[in-house]
Amino acid sequence: MKTIIEPFRIKSVEPIRMTSVSEREALLKQANYNLFSLKSDDVLIDLLTDSGTSAMSTKQWAGIQMGDESYAGSPSFYRFEQALKELAPFKHIIPTHQGRAAEKILFSILESAQSTDSSKTQIIPNNTHFDTTRANIEATGSQALDLVTKQGLDPELELPFKGDMDLMRLRDLLETQGDQVPIVMLTITNNSGGGQPVSMENIRQTKALCDEFNKPLFLDACRFAENAYFIKQREAGYQDKTPKEIVQEIFSYADGMTMSAKKDALVNMGGWLALNDDNLAMKARNVLILTEGFPTYGGLSGRDLEAMAVGLEEIVEEDYLNYRISSTAYFGDALDKLGIPIVKPVGGHAVYIDARAMLPHISPNDYPGQALAIEMYRLGGIRGCEIGTVMFGQQVDGSEKLAAMDLVRMAIPRRVYTQSHIDYCIECLAEVNKNKEKLRGVDISWQPPMLRHFTCHFTPK
Ligand SMILES: *Cc1c(COP(=O)(O)O)cnc(C)c1O
Repeated sequence: MKTIIEPFRIKSVEPIRMTSVSEREALLKQANYNLFSLKSDDVLIDLLTDSGTSAMSTKQWAGIQMGDESYAGSPSFYRFEQALKELAPFKHIIPTHQGRAAEKILFSILESAQSTDSSKTQIIPNNTHFDTTRANIEATGSQALDLVTKQGLDPELELPFKGDMDLMRLRDLLETQGDQVPIVMLTITNNSGGGQPVSMENIRQTKALCDEFNKPLFLDACRFAENAYFIKQREAGYQDKTPKEIVQEIFSYADGMTMSAKKDALVNMGGWLALNDDNLAMKARNVLILTEGFPTYGGLSGRDLEAMAVGLEEIVEEDYLNYRISSTAYFGDALDKLGIPIVKPVGGHAVYIDARAMLPHISPNDYPGQALAIEMYRLGGIRGCEIGTVMFGQQVDGSEKLAAMDLVRMAIPRRVYTQSHIDYCIECLAEVNKNKEKLRGVDISWQPPMLRHFTCHFTPK
């Protein structure tokens, strides 16, 4: 049989409240056209994020009953630690309440570890920094540098590993400004660059460069299992390996990782920082105690640690990953057939529409991504997320710069929606595409000093 089915059945359901176009027009106005300000009850299909929106399995819910809420030394921590070490055998595993907490801790201790001329800013390279990663780095006064390959910035180009680091530029950075680089990062899959995977070859070579210049390599590994499955499908020599073996090889090249367990640990809240360096780990735990909690629970309940332990086993199951990657591709391929420009090839966790290409009549200064996201909600009740100049255009000095791309991300929550939900989204986008000339851009009428996309107000042009 060729049909790939959802490898689960539904035991508990959550009703969707139906809304009309006119109701949604009023709701949009109330929300100042910022989709983050909508009540989720007013959304039919919520593709805002795949973060923390996974459906948990019966085994995870059973694990929740086993959660031990001891302040120190909970067996739930040791179960979580063992499940993680099975995939990523880092010496120190430090739970946090979510990924950005791990980032905040990591970058704060790197800064205090800075031994070079303090008049020079630290630079942290990555293929592409995620928004919270960038913001956490910039909040310490350091520079977040994106070094993805040129091909990774071309949404049309169909290549297997568009998340790869540009090794020439990384070498150049390490040769000319290496003293300012405390760590090198690699984000798998490359969320802000379209959910594109990084090849094992590129991970290996990035590690080799790090070794040559004596820099630790940290993975922002939120979607490590999806990245591993792409390696299995696309990279020579990995077809016969299990996703778990590939994941183990990926982590064997890293000195540490930050993780949002809200992605590939299949839970609604959680994260961790893991690393091998004893001295950095001690510093991290000291900050952790101040900001998150005792090192065996981080910012989490014992039950959360149990759910993560089970999630880490389920995420590397081949049937799950085959369904996950295939169902995302199903959505993207359908939009491609409709002539809607998308980032190609389709990434792991989301389909990204190239709104700048789809709506050439809207100036990039008028946020075509936001205009498209608003229309998808108005017409179909679908909530996507602008990843473009709204998200990245605001500079630290208050100025504005066009982002490399204006995308609308439709992220697919794990194990939540069925194929008919996705067919509905495809129909809605076909309709939006038919009438796209009528769409107008938006202005930003109010914005906070940073991370504006979460709260800013828009007015339609
Ligand atoms: C989600 C995400 C983060 C931040 O994690 P949170 O749990 O949302 O704090 C960091 N990096 C990447 C690549 C992510 O996708």
